[in-house]
Amino acid sequence: MTRDIIIATKNDKKLHELRRYLKGVKATAHSLKDLGKTPRIVENGDTFKKNAIKKAVATSKFADGLALADDSGLAVDMLGGEPGVKSARFAGPHKSNHDNNVKLLRLLEGAPLKKRTARFICAVAIADKGKVVKVIEEVCKGLIAFSIRGRHGFGYDSVFLMPKYNKTFGELGLKAKDRMSHRSKALKKARAFLRKYLSGRSAAG
Ligand code: IMP
Repeated sequence: MTRDIIIATKNDKKLHELRRYLKGVKATAHSLKDLGKTPRIVENGDTFKKNAIKKAVATSKFADGLALADDSGLAVDMLGGEPGVKSARFAGPHKSNHDNNVKLLRLLEGAPLKKRTARFICAVAIADKGKVVKVIEEVCKGLIAFSIRGRHGFGYDSVFLMPKYNKTFGELGLKAKDRMSHRSKALKKARAFLRKYLSGRSAAG
């Protein structure tokens, strides 16, 4: 039997990306938009895991079924882990990705490459009928470049440098990013979990 899984997002791009990773899982992915009415979820946790869990639990309670939520962002060592859970609104609530990148580069001005260590973090939570059944967190380590480089991707991709290639995610593009990103690592684990979880449930009836 194929179950439904609600992806806790209203963002079509994110739904599309997550759907790709859930290929081979015996579940049909829907977004919050497909539910019509949606639960009000305030992402006010101080960690990515807490936010992902909150979204997954609220959504799965609301839909009385299976839900998957993710939360992600950038942590820069020189800034004590900032922007962290505030990654999307680092430069202010109505500012753009470009503004966030400009603020980040300004804060790191003068810092040598070896001090510009950072990591992308992605937490994924899966809940079933209001109960958490899996939490995953994965990271992708890199450096913050000295300038904005490349046009691919979103968010901080154009300033996030992969030392092995001496290129930012913005220069490397999606295919290469997919092979090493925090999100792809976390979602691959989520897919493996769901495959087992759903086959276990159907075997149990
Ligand atoms: P969310 O998980 O969609 O809430 O993402 C939060 C924010 O983190 C985004 O708006 C980006 O600023 C940043 N972020 C998360 N993942 C990535 C990534 O893969 N590339 C670039 N920025 C990211």
